[in-house]
Amino acid sequence: MSVKPIVAVYDTKPYDRQYLSLAPGSEHLSLRFLDFRLNLESARAAEGAQAVCVFVNDEVPREVLEQLAKLNIRHVALRCAGFNNVDLAAAKEFGITVTRVPSYSPHAVAEHTLALILALNRKIHRAFVRVREMNFSLSGLVGFDLNGKTVGVVGTGKIGRIAAEIFRGFGMRVLASDPYPNREWAEKHCIEYVDFETICRDSDIVSLHTPLTKETDHLIRAETIAWMKPGVMIVNVSRGRLIHTTALIEALKSGHIGSVALDVYEEEEGVFFEDLSSDVMPDDELARLLTFPNVLITSHQAFLTHEALSEISRVTVDNLHALFHGQPFLQSTQL
Ligand code: NAD
Repeated sequence: MSVKPIVAVYDTKPYDRQYLSLAPGSEHLSLRFLDFRLNLESARAAEGAQAVCVFVNDEVPREVLEQLAKLNIRHVALRCAGFNNVDLAAAKEFGITVTRVPSYSPHAVAEHTLALILALNRKIHRAFVRVREMNFSLSGLVGFDLNGKTVGVVGTGKIGRIAAEIFRGFGMRVLASDPYPNREWAEKHCIEYVDFETICRDSDIVSLHTPLTKETDHLIRAETIAWMKPGVMIVNVSRGRLIHTTALIEALKSGHIGSVALDVYEEEEGVFFEDLSSDVMPDDELARLLTFPNVLITSHQAFLTHEALSEISRVTVDNLHALFHGQPFLQSTQL
């Protein structure tokens, strides 16, 4: 009987364990589920494994990769699309292959964007609490029609394009910006490519769908917020660091920003995905954001659908098998 390769699977929650264990081929792997995140301290928990499997908030810089290489780890399998938490150059140097799941369900994330916008605009989060308290008053719950409004979609990759098409379904004018515009798609859906400044100046809603890069780091900051219409709604389901939180809070306090929906947050590591309901909130800016009635925050859950979890698990297990059996990786999963 052949020995099953061991995979140290970091930062797992019950749904990760359930879906990874059900993925086709997972029975040929020995999945060692860990409930803590990968960092320099926890890297040694991978001892004896041949690969590690990580998620968005695991830390995989050079020092961690060096430590993993010493433990003979040959593969870091990301079970997410974004890879800003991995030092790819160092991984190459240490002979560690890094794979990801480039696309699992862009619909899940785009649909969550709309869920946030609709709930925030129509104040469903507040109405839900009120009605449960037998408070049937409508005061303070006035929203606006999406129909006829302008939305700026920043980044028209897999998720941004789907979100843009849904916005068109609401009868919105859709502006888009992307260094690599997809003009054929834009023409087909009556979407206008403009520069980022025009997005800021003309949009009633600014929706972020770019990866975190040097160029997009703090894309939303005091200077760019100043370009925006008073009362603008900002939505971020992409990466927390796209927004400079201090500037966001200042603009919320001044009333320049009308409302904010976030599924990601600059300092979400160690907070999002965890139950801290019995703890003292360690992050003052997050605590401040949670006091605004016009801010709606979810805890990085845009991906959390049955379809997305099934696909993430399927591709991650395929990637692990490909490495262990010397087979080619599925298209664009290897970084
Ligand atoms: P993608 O690679 O398909 O598309 C990203 C697009 O952004 C590309 O077209 C790229 O050209 C564009 N872009 C890059 N720099 C830009 C800039 N400065 N201005 C405008 N556009 C720029 O990625 P995707 O799969 O659509 O993912 C988009 C984002 O969503 C990523 O940040 C990803 O990490 C995030 N995401 C979040 C969740 C979640 O659960 N909240 C889940 C999956 C993905």
